[in-house]
Amino acid sequence: MTSICDINEYVMKPHQLHERLSIKEWEHINNDIVILLASSFCLDENTLKYVCKFITLDTYRNLIHARNINGRCAYPMCQSHINTASTMSYSTVDNISQYCNDFHFDCSQFLLTQINKTPLYERVDLHMFKTYNTGEQQENHKISDVTLLEELIRNKSTDNDIFDMLKEITAFQLK
Ligand SMILES: [Zn+2]
Repeated sequence: MTSICDINEYVMKPHQLHERLSIKEWEHINNDIVILLASSFCLDENTLKYVCKFITLDTYRNLIHARNINGRCAYPMCQSHINTASTMSYSTVDNISQYCNDFHFDCSQFLLTQINKTPLYERVDLHMFKTYNTGEQQENHKISDVTLLEELIRNKSTDNDIFDMLKEITAFQLK
């Protein structure tokens, strides 16, 4: 299981010397996150939201594939193992069989719409610990750019909200 502390310790620590990283350094970070989460899962929702700030869309796709290769449900919050016989071919389009259930497929699709779209070369300061170490309030604020489907369902339960949410997922899948 992987926590924010683990991400900082194993992935971000070597990159604290300067605020602007090279693309190579960002690619290192992205690769290390895939390696870490391919054989693990996020301790809590904040960990997954934290990770989403650093990675690219391609990295998330690679993570899905890497988790499937390890026999894991593609959703990084999930501890379940799946039968991956039908998911071994790499695809740029998500497939429900890569997940343990429909809900985790939806969670993953919803997350995909929110992964940091800033090009790697424009990401400044994001990886620095100090950004996250200035008090819990600040930390939560910094982590919560992303809303998970689980949170949305917990916090917004009117039919209209759910309908809007599903429309957003569908619109993304059609892209
Ligand atoms: Zn799952």
